[in-house]
Amino acid sequence: MPLYEYISENPDDASLSCPMCRRGYELMRPLSREPHTRCMYCKNPVRKKIGTVNVPKISAPLSVTDARKAGFTVLQKRDEGVYEKL
Ligand SMILES: [Zn+2]
Repeated sequence: MPLYEYISENPDDASLSCPMCRRGYELMRPLSREPHTRCMYCKNPVRKKIGTVNVPKISAPLSVTDARKAGFTVLQKRDEGVYEKL
């Protein structure tokens, strides 16, 4: 069952949101169910936050050049237990 994160449509308006949906909350929803559009706590409008759940926070650099530009030391495995600094 997919896990979705929902967040208030009006997080700055205390009369249209509650602490739960202002911060956002996660909810398991079967795909067949109707869309979840109201906060499960305060019943005010919420929207689905897309692309924030189960996405790794750190993305790998695209290339060795990018990694070096970003200040990483890039090591490539040459042999068993031997790493060469590029
Ligand atoms: Zn709420």
